[in-house]
Amino acid sequence: MSVPVRRFDAVIVGAGGAGLRAALQLSEAGLKTAVLSKVFPTRSHTVAAQGGISASLGNVQEDRWDWHMYDTVKGSDWLGDQDAIEFMCRKAPEAVIELEHFGMPFDRLEDGKIYQRPFGGHMADFGKTPVQRACAVADRTGHAMLHTLYQRNVRANTQFFVEWMALDLIRDADGDVVGVTALELETGDIFIIHAKAVLFATGGGGRIYAASTNAFINTGDGLGMTARAGIPLEDMEFWQFHPTGVAGAGVLITEGVRGEGGILLNSNGERFMERYAPNAKDLASRDVVSRAMAVEIFEGRGCGKNKDHVLLKLDHLGPEIINHRLPGIREIAIKFAGVDPIKEPIPVVPTTHYMMGGIPTNYKGEVISPREGDDEARVHGFYAAGECACASVHGANRLGTNSLLDLVVFGKSAGESMIEFIKNERPAHKPLPENAADFSLARVNRLETQTDGEDVDAVRRALQQTVQRHAGVFRTQDVLAEGVAQVREVAERVKRIKIKDTSKTWNTARMEALELENLIEVAMATMISAEARKESRGAHARDDYPERDDAEWMKHTLYHREGQKLTYKAVHTKPLTVDYIQPQKRVY
Ligand SMILES: Cc1cc2nc3c(=O)[nH]c(=O)nc-3n(C[C@H](O)[C@H](O)[C@H](O)COP(=O)(O)OP(=O)(O)OC[C@H]3O[C@@H](n4cnc5c(N)ncnc54)[C@H](O)[C@@H]3O)c2cc1C
Repeated sequence: MSVPVRRFDAVIVGAGGAGLRAALQLSEAGLKTAVLSKVFPTRSHTVAAQGGISASLGNVQEDRWDWHMYDTVKGSDWLGDQDAIEFMCRKAPEAVIELEHFGMPFDRLEDGKIYQRPFGGHMADFGKTPVQRACAVADRTGHAMLHTLYQRNVRANTQFFVEWMALDLIRDADGDVVGVTALELETGDIFIIHAKAVLFATGGGGRIYAASTNAFINTGDGLGMTARAGIPLEDMEFWQFHPTGVAGAGVLITEGVRGEGGILLNSNGERFMERYAPNAKDLASRDVVSRAMAVEIFEGRGCGKNKDHVLLKLDHLGPEIINHRLPGIREIAIKFAGVDPIKEPIPVVPTTHYMMGGIPTNYKGEVISPREGDDEARVHGFYAAGECACASVHGANRLGTNSLLDLVVFGKSAGESMIEFIKNERPAHKPLPENAADFSLARVNRLETQTDGEDVDAVRRALQQTVQRHAGVFRTQDVLAEGVAQVREVAERVKRIKIKDTSKTWNTARMEALELENLIEVAMATMISAEARKESRGAHARDDYPERDDAEWMKHTLYHREGQKLTYKAVHTKPLTVDYIQPQKRVY
């Protein structure tokens, strides 16, 4: 079957903050750039980001990029690569000011400078006292950022393929990436997008969990495609649980609430974080606060009739601060928890929020596929940025507001790397391999022809419940090993999923089935990596191995789909210009 081919200099899969920032760089350099997105660009999950974007602007009190770097390394529990972390923290002020110049409507201080609020784990003077580093647009920072970047791209003539779903990477005989296959959702037709360079900016995969703050489209497609193309996934055991998801609903209440002075209370009315993090208290890093909440609930000090959540109190901030700085939060609390935070506290529980692992890259956004003797082996023509990528700046735990920063810093640097690559290494398209679309066509065809098989919704639910139960806030060997066994069973069921509706136009059943094939790759990588790591570090907390084990485990895991095996890669201990930040015990 002949498949139509579209040709571009660069193709970007994903129109969130990372994809749009990269696209802007490429389009403004005059390259013919296509952006594919499952949804209209401004509906990407970046739109939901609330609290802010970090940069050591020092608008409220003194701040320095090397303090920001220290906090990020410490937040990562020393698993982050320090060259990438230095690069990001150094670039942060410039990146935020650039957004301001693009027209992003930041909140302002009296003197006209950008408003900054405190956020968990962000401290002055190498970890001493909380600092105001998060630049915010009320509690709708991602919304403002995404719209700003989209408009700039329209101006720069980026070509958007809206409601197109990328299916698979195309690699040639040398292993180079030369394009993607994609499904136009409106018509059900499959295309080849042939490109000199491909960037994945497909966002997170939080939908492997039953309870998540993530959008429904966050199904880890980029990771599924990468794993199927024979490239490993890095550090997939590390999932961040955000302390304040609305109990029962999963919708996020930004950490900015605690940044503005909100506090967490248990059923005795006690501000329990004072016991767990005497210095930073409610503003300790997210893994620390989530574990403290889980312990409070486990030991019977949870609130409500089932004692299954804690309370986030902010009424003492007064209506003015709440209405002015946190209007979206008030709306969410009223709609999803039935409480008005001006008068009552909000019921909250730790909820899956962010994927620290992903497609392995260096700080230039180049995808690497480490092999024996070469930890940094590149996959030519392939780039990744944003939540789907693992640079790795967040290591074992991400600090709040460091993701929006990651999107613009690494989106831009990936764009610059692609421009260089196209100019110097691939001025012309590399030919497509023969039958480049066959693999994708076979996948879609199987769905179409499978008559007897498993229901997509039922299998997805089984997957989500397995991961929810077996890769939670606290983990043990038995629970993890059982999780691996169960997720393998689910994987067998995924091979037999069927769809009842085989129509072509706007077939969401087909799309959900294809998404499930990506979710299973993410879930498998997560369970197998988590079972293997026998220590506690950052968000990966094991009851049976409660300590961090630097001698054995200061290394990144790499999950290979083929053979479902793990290999390892060293942590980059050489920052670009400053001294290595030596591992210490992580206390807040
Ligand atoms: C509720 C919430 C609040 C948050 N608040 C903050 C915050 O205040 N500060 C902060 O720093 N971080 C925050 N985060 C984290 C941060 O927002 C995300 O990590 C970040 O926005 C991800 O951006 P991205 O560009 O990588 O991907 P996304 O914005 O998720 O975009 C992914 C894009 O990929 C496309 N896509 C995916 N698969 C395919 C496919 N197969 N084919 C075609 N297109 C595809 C989608 O259509 C979409 O356009 C928050 C996250 C959530 C969920």
